[in-house]
Amino acid sequence: MREKLQALAALQKVDIEVAALKKSADAYPKEIGELEKQLAAAKTAVDAERTKLDELEKQKLHLEQTITEDKDKVRKWEARLTEQRSTREYSALAREIDIAKKGQQTMAEEVVELGRQATIQREAVRAKNEDFAEKSKGLTEKIGALKGKLSAAEAAVRALDGDREGAAKTVDAALLKRYDVIRKKRMPALAPVAAPGICRGCGITVRAQFYNTLVASKGVDTCPSCSRLVYAQEVLEEPAPK
Ligand SMILES: [Zn+2]
Repeated sequence: MREKLQALAALQKVDIEVAALKKSADAYPKEIGELEKQLAAAKTAVDAERTKLDELEKQKLHLEQTITEDKDKVRKWEARLTEQRSTREYSALAREIDIAKKGQQTMAEEVVELGRQATIQREAVRAKNEDFAEKSKGLTEKIGALKGKLSAAEAAVRALDGDREGAAKTVDAALLKRYDVIRKKRMPALAPVAAPGICRGCGITVRAQFYNTLVASKGVDTCPSCSRLVYAQEVLEEPAPK
């Protein structure tokens, strides 16, 4: 019976290792996703500053085009000014020209102001870009490292899956079936009962007779409280018989 118990304990050791590895490996994709989100947010911040700059430059360009068009118009008016026969028509046109030129002056001042704002904004874009480059370097490195850890953990799980197959073959078929059923509900599925009869799975104290039978049989039974497979701890602590 002791050999059966040993085989099962060895199998559980592999199962616990696999479970621990899977648990830590499961955390990586979430961490990676979190970092990728931070990276995207930093990129969005750069894009927002750049959009502001584009908007300013667009406004400035539009205003410059309007001034050019307006100047053409005024030049034509000025040419027509000499053709005016009446003083009234002349002064009316002259006043129009005057208003248009004042308007151009105002627009030219706006162009200067927009240019000033664009210069400031260009600096903001540059700073944000620098900030992003730095952040992105750090984040990309972290993401890469986590992806490396993830694939290493996955490879380790695959290797342990192989070990598990080997270990499962050595376990008594009926026992393995019982163990696998319990394992799906609670881990560890196999628990020692420590002298004088405390189940290490659930902490309950079993009847003395139950414990004594476990010790004598060197076998496995079901804990009346937690339904785990249990064995007397001292059985596996004994040196193996020659
Ligand atoms: Zn128990």
